[in-house]
Amino acid sequence: MRVFINPGHDIDLDSGAVNPNYGTRECDVARNAGKMLARYLQTAGCEVRTLQSDDLGLVCETSNEWGADIFVSLHCNAFNTVARGTETLYKSYNGQQLAQLIQDQIINSINTVDRGIKKRDDLWVLNGTDAVAVLVEMAFIDNDEDLEILNNDLDTIVRAIARGITDFGG
Ligand SMILES: [Zn+2]
Repeated sequence: MRVFINPGHDIDLDSGAVNPNYGTRECDVARNAGKMLARYLQTAGCEVRTLQSDDLGLVCETSNEWGADIFVSLHCNAFNTVARGTETLYKSYNGQQLAQLIQDQIINSINTVDRGIKKRDDLWVLNGTDAVAVLVEMAFIDNDEDLEILNNDLDTIVRAIARGITDFGG
């Protein structure tokens, strides 16, 4: 199984959301999560490629040319510093199945607010990829309690995402 990992945003060109109190950047959290996810998936026998770039056309094209079976984009949410929780976004029917498996694994692994899975038709990476694609909003980086989850439990979140993927593939 070929899994393409897209950590959200770009460490040089697009920080993504930033926690206003601590300065923690979404692009860095996503990058770390992507590195860990690649290791767990490779250990599970998956072929993995990772690309973090603000050029989402390039990201989609690279995934499609490689022939990815699964495409996972890793992000942190942000809203009003009060909203919390984890949600997984999808577009296609197969994406919905994968999103539910990942969401269930995360909810069972960490003490987060379950915001459920959501169908989205307006996201580049879900529209542009041929693979079964999902986008995981791991937690709200602008909320300090959720930031603590990202600081302390990122490895647990990532392992849950890996299990969701292998649940789907298996
Ligand atoms: Zn993002």
